Amino acid sequence: MDHALALLEELGPEARLLAGGHSLLPMMKLRLAQPEYLVDIDPLADELGYITLAGAELRVGAMTRHRDLLESPLLADTIFTDAERVIADPVVRNRGTIGGALCQADPSEDLSAVCAAVGARLVIRSRAGERVLDMHAFSLGPYETAVCPAELLTEIRVPRRSGSAYAKVDRRVGDWAIAAVGAALDVRDGVITHAGLALTAVGGELTVRAAEDALVGAGPEAFKRAAEIAAAQCDPVTDQRGSKEYKRHVVGVLCERVLQRAFARAQHSEEV
Ligand SMILES: Cc1cc2nc3c(=O)[nH]c(=O)nc-3n(C[C@H](O)[C@H](O)[C@H](O)COP(=O)(O)OP(=O)(O)OC[C@H]3O[C@@H](n4cnc5c(N)ncnc54)[C@H](O)[C@@H]3O)c2cc1C
Repeated sequence: MDHALALLEELGPEARLLAGGHSLLPMMKLRLAQPEYLVDIDPLADELGYITLAGAELRVGAMTRHRDLLESPLLADTIFTDAERVIADPVVRNRGTIGGALCQADPSEDLSAVCAAVGARLVIRSRAGERVLDMHAFSLGPYETAVCPAELLTEIRVPRRSGSAYAKVDRRVGDWAIAAVGAALDVRDGVITHAGLALTAVGGELTVRAAEDALVGAGPEAFKRAAEIAAAQCDPVTDQRGSKEYKRHVVGVLCERVLQRAFARAQHSEEV
């Protein structure tokens, strides 16, 4: 890692990290990215490819592949496995990394909403030291993050929520989302004590604060209202994937669905 950071510093902003290559290489083929140097961090796959439990949170190394997220017993029946099941196909999932996905920050990419919904914190390292950001500080907009040219995203810290879920509507298996929604809840005695609700591919903010506020202190009776708020507050555009009205409708339907599934999972985890 020290070598990679030294190279980034030495080569300057014309250098780009190459992780799984499943976003950067297509961008280079299309001439949308033309970096002068590539710093291949595949050799860091051992050092930065892990999912471990540290107290109340999970620590996920930035080079963890989609496939490892999908197959980890620590993430079974969570928003992560729901999302990973519908990200691309096995070829992409075998190579693509969580760090690459978050740093690419494609507005249709699924793991940003997943990390925002659970309230993940991201560890960014440079030769000068480390800083830790939440998703709101990390994600600056489409294709833009707070990671500077001489920095590397090293770890994603994921608080364990009592129940979480993700659902996506796409045109065909493995495609990018028309719209997708993630929910992460903490539930005690049937009452929601923490709510995270995040959207993919429909513009607006990553999370829907007003809908989250409507859920805290309530139970399933608040799901419909939260879904209405999310559908009203997202800001989709009409494109080849559908009209903005259709996408808004999908957001509402998916919100209710993921909230129900997250709540059911939370209740199940309370019982065991
Ligand atoms: C056909 C296809 C379908 C896809 N479908 C989906 C989908 O449905 N949903 C979805 O979410 N994604 C989808 N993807 C994207 C896929 O998940 C990519 O693997 C992922 O977005 C990028 O991960 P990577 O490791 O390949 O990153 P790379 O392509 O290697 O890098 C992407 C960017 O991140 C930077 N970067 C990488 N790692 C770091 C790091 N640790 N620190 C700082 N910067 C870093 C690179 O410099 C580059 O700018 C699809 C990709 C393909 C090719």
